[in-house]
Amino acid sequence: MNKLLSLIVPVFNEEEVLPVSYARMSAAMQALTGYDYEIIYVNDGSRDGTMKQLRAIAKEHKEVRVISFSRNFGHQLAVTAGMDNARGDALIIIDADLQDPPEVIAELVKAWENGADIAYGKRLKREGETVFKKLTAFCYYRLLNAMSAYPIPLDTGDFRLLDKKVADVFLKMREHNRFLRGMSGWMGFDAVPIEFVRNERFAGKTKYTLKKMIRLAMDGIIGFSDRPLTLCGGFGVFTSIIAGLGLIALIVLACCGVKFPAWLWAVDGVVLLQGLTFLFLCIQGAYMNRMYDELKQRPLYIVAEELNF
Ligand code: UDP
Ligand code: MG
Repeated sequence: MNKLLSLIVPVFNEEEVLPVSYARMSAAMQALTGYDYEIIYVNDGSRDGTMKQLRAIAKEHKEVRVISFSRNFGHQLAVTAGMDNARGDALIIIDADLQDPPEVIAELVKAWENGADIAYGKRLKREGETVFKKLTAFCYYRLLNAMSAYPIPLDTGDFRLLDKKVADVFLKMREHNRFLRGMSGWMGFDAVPIEFVRNERFAGKTKYTLKKMIRLAMDGIIGFSDRPLTLCGGFGVFTSIIAGLGLIALIVLACCGVKFPAWLWAVDGVVLLQGLTFLFLCIQGAYMNRMYDELKQRPLYIVAEELNF
């Protein structure tokens, strides 16, 4: 029996790209000999003709399955719904707008056949995107990587292939604020980069508004790093020590009868209190961080392989 590949395509107001996108994707899947495939479209609450087109495609092609949300829930949740319903031995996540070239899927599958649990697309170059997007993405990926306790590969989006065993772990992670790249990094497994040039969007405009992008960026940092918390604590300790030493110096000077302006006491006191406040905030935050960790209910550990079981 052939192995089954599940292609997961989130779509939000993509009527301009969908017909061409479907044609290119199904051609790329058919070109892979020896595999069966399904294409799962997740309509993320589109308000244009996307759903009408999807109905027509699904009617003609039985390998196309469609899930349609009641409203816009966002890209990460659309991908999650696709993963929840995929039946494949491997899952491939790809954008509808042809920025991730469907032809690269063959390389992802090859890496998977050579033993990779995750094969992820790494962007060598981005074509046709604004300088603002390129610059913010460049800085963000580096900031995220520096902050995160788990490696999150640079210049990598959600375009990737996941082996079924990796996808099964994703299904166990039901956290609401999802940042799939970070979750993938947290899981570990054998991840192999496949380099590609990110194309220009085939038609239409980006569906990731600045607000959605900032939200995703926050999910990435808050969900996968406690560095902001330790930075806040570190700042508190530093300020408290400086102000504490200042206070000792003032007391010694006062005892030696040296005259200095009275406001120095006030300034030192305020800085000391401020430093301690930062420290207490960090302590409070550490408890909340623990609660957040428990709430996420991630698996305690992930087994990649078992021998003689
Ligand atoms: N998308 C989605 N829900 C959203 C925003 C985007 O399902 O709320 C889909 C979109 O249709 C596309 C993919 O997610 O298939 C990536 O979005 P887009 O290309 O607009 O983002 P960009 O490539 O500009 O970051
Ligand atoms: Mg795009």
